[in-house]
Amino acid sequence: MRQQRLLNPTLRDVPGDAEAASHRLMLRAGLIRQLSSGIYSYLPLGLKALGHIQTIVREEMDRAGAQEMLMPALHPAELWKASGRWDVYGPELMRLQDRHGREFALGATHEEVITTLVKDEIHSYKKLPLTLYQIQTKYRDERRPRFGLLRGREFLMKDAYSFDRSTSGLDASYQAMFDAYVNIFTRCGLQFRAVEADSGAIGGTDTHEFMALADVGEDTIVHCPACQYAANLEKASGTITNTSATTAEMPNTQPAKVHTPGITSIKQLSQFLRIEPQQIIKSVAVQANGEPVIALIRGDLEINEIKLKHVLGVDEITMLSETEIAALGSIAGFIGPIGLSSVRLIADSSIQGLTDAVVGANEADYHLQHVDVQRELADILYADVRNVGQGENCSHCGHELAFAKGIEVGHVFKLGTKYSESLGASFTDENGLSEPMIMGCYGIGVSRVLAAVIEQHQDERGISWPNAIAPYSIHLLTVQVKDEARMTLSEELYLSLTRAGFSVLWDDREERPGVKFNDADLLGFPLRLTVGKKANERIIECKERRSGSAYELNVEQLLTHCQSFFN
Ligand code: ATP
Ligand code: MG
Repeated sequence: MRQQRLLNPTLRDVPGDAEAASHRLMLRAGLIRQLSSGIYSYLPLGLKALGHIQTIVREEMDRAGAQEMLMPALHPAELWKASGRWDVYGPELMRLQDRHGREFALGATHEEVITTLVKDEIHSYKKLPLTLYQIQTKYRDERRPRFGLLRGREFLMKDAYSFDRSTSGLDASYQAMFDAYVNIFTRCGLQFRAVEADSGAIGGTDTHEFMALADVGEDTIVHCPACQYAANLEKASGTITNTSATTAEMPNTQPAKVHTPGITSIKQLSQFLRIEPQQIIKSVAVQANGEPVIALIRGDLEINEIKLKHVLGVDEITMLSETEIAALGSIAGFIGPIGLSSVRLIADSSIQGLTDAVVGANEADYHLQHVDVQRELADILYADVRNVGQGENCSHCGHELAFAKGIEVGHVFKLGTKYSESLGASFTDENGLSEPMIMGCYGIGVSRVLAAVIEQHQDERGISWPNAIAPYSIHLLTVQVKDEARMTLSEELYLSLTRAGFSVLWDDREERPGVKFNDADLLGFPLRLTVGKKANERIIECKERRSGSAYELNVEQLLTHCQSFFN
């Protein structure tokens, strides 16, 4: 491709709201343009890179035995009503009506459509197992579309669905997709981790997320540097040891009220009483299925809402309002577990064994000191309802856990029979009995992968593509296009390289050398070849984008050099 004719509007400045490096670089390098919040056009270079990711995804899906198909993006509401998700999916599902007033949704995911299709077409065990996939545009009205392609409202997803006769069959289908994902993300040049994730309240058992490691990532990963353990913070658990400072023996000290005027936060309280936050017990008051619950946790730690919901067996919890807290006989900011009879208490295991703790006194401007948990809260129910905190140890091997930020690029999920039962996808087994199919679903955010790749492969000068994803492998630059000898040599190189199978973008623009070099760094193709002063001697300059190493090459050596560089 000759750059002269390429639609590649590079930018010097980008809008201030483009916070993520990948977002800024994709705008600056002219890969994408925004049409509306979370909705983007792919310009030629962006589409090429996206195409390379799609090719890798297809090759690995096909190799794993999945079959590609394509489903509609427009879904009749009846399907989503039948699965129950028309109501539970909420405002993220984009909804519309046709000219007859019939309701539709724009596909946010395709469990409903695929399960209905398979239900109609597959009836016998002889046709199972089956894994189908598609690469398709998805629509989700995200609450906060941001970071460019990382969280779009219209984005490209690869979604696959497996159908099995047995749970062991599902295990095998799941493992095949898991392995394919490892290959895909490795080939895309991503540094990633597969982490255990929460499978939600309804349906589903095992689930893993594939996280590309990046500071801009919205997920927190908890992992053990010593063993294989890695989990999303929403699911992760660790072990905690309360120090001797917080569990020292307190012979015969009774809880005592202490005046703490206007002190309602853990930070204020620890400063006021000159104690560590670890010595304070935080009381978090929530409502679960109409019932008030107080969750108790060590002051330096945070409640994990997902775990708390699981322990309480509910889908939704809300914080109690000041009036609701007052109705319990307490007061916001000074809630505590002692003396509240009408409330269910759940204690995070982090408070177990505390001997000299501080809690709210359920009275304005007062706390209780010298609380011995074992003595004062003898019958309390302990559970793990916290986010793993700094300094916790791995429950598998005891090593201290570490934290990292990740971008969820893929997700594998054992669905079980949730959709096959609600939508009636069953098969007859060898004995003529009807059984629901056992399903798995497997997503990759293809457009998000593109952004994640850039997030991990960039520097102050621009993008620095991994070979497999780069829109073009080679950037051929002609310095001074008016120079006939240089143009002739450039043309010769362009032809021989493209004939040899390399993808080449030829910068034949009438621009100053500085502009060309800066643009080449910004676009970031792996190898830059410059035809300049020594064209007459058939010598060109070669520069590797990633290592920065630069050297001269005789034209006669070029093909072998490129072949070895790209192998
Ligand atoms: P997230 O927690 O990031 O919202 P999700 O759990 O909603 O993701 P899934 O429903 O599992 O995501 O979708 C499968 C994959 O699609 C995700 O792993 C992710 O890579 C991608 N994806 C999800 N939402 C978006 C989005 N708004 N923009 C781009 N990619 C997305
Ligand atoms: Mg989401």
